[in-house]
Amino acid sequence: MSELRPNPTASAASRPNPAPTSIDEYIAAFSPEVQAILQRVRVTISKAAPEARETISYRIPAFTLSGALVYFAAFKKHIGFYPPVRGDAKLEKALSGYAGEKGNLRFPLDQPIPYNLIERIVKLRVKQNLAKKPAKTRKGEGSSRRSMPSRTASCSCGQLRIRVEGEPRGVGICHCLACQQRTGSVFAALASFSAPFDVFGTATEFVRLGDQGARFIFRFCPVCGTTLFHTEDGRTESVSIAVGAFADPSFPAPRVSIYDSRRHPWVELPPGIKTFDKDPT
Ligand SMILES: [Zn+2]
Ligand SMILES: [Zn+2]
Repeated sequence: MSELRPNPTASAASRPNPAPTSIDEYIAAFSPEVQAILQRVRVTISKAAPEARETISYRIPAFTLSGALVYFAAFKKHIGFYPPVRGDAKLEKALSGYAGEKGNLRFPLDQPIPYNLIERIVKLRVKQNLAKKPAKTRKGEGSSRRSMPSRTASCSCGQLRIRVEGEPRGVGICHCLACQQRTGSVFAALASFSAPFDVFGTATEFVRLGDQGARFIFRFCPVCGTTLFHTEDGRTESVSIAVGAFADPSFPAPRVSIYDSRRHPWVELPPGIKTFDKDPT
């Protein structure tokens, strides 16, 4: 990675801007065309390694999972991808056309970016990092939080994502007219999770007053319009997330059905589900 370290003498002249503090900030500095590519690289990585965390390292976007996982950066004519791939002869062969000095990868901007290869690289890196996990685990890093399953829900374009840990506190469907209009479907499927949760990307907010006067703050993606999650104003201990955004048909089934009085008559409920005419809370 030494070639990525900022050069102290060159940095003042060629980098007038301070180092970005987030991947969003890094991406925002590029042209819309390059932004779209960087965003897709980022989504490809995070889908291949949902447990990895985003950060900025060596002034460029990085993902970590039991240590450094991958880095990427945009240049005038290519996307750089690091570190060099080792340990999978087939994959290395598939990448040979992109490997530059020291094995670092360069994906030319005037050719299609091989997102499928990026996915394979990330999955290989995850395997390699987890294999050496015991040696890499730093003292003091809690093992309880680390071992909790995590899930990431994403809007349909991938710009806005939320990651939660542990199992949902509750899963329900809501037939209220506001949920029908909000989702465009005839009911909403929502899962509530306890904090902590991590939000990636930019969200626009819409505040709706509930029947009992609570203020619900809905967050939706300003690019594709998915309403991804909402919180109740003043309550940060939990978040409600659109079940469909997990894109996981094995997600736990709903246990409660609320505003059953507004249910379209052709909608059949799963057996054993608890129904409420209105919002019971
Ligand atoms: Zn989106
Ligand atoms: Zn509702």
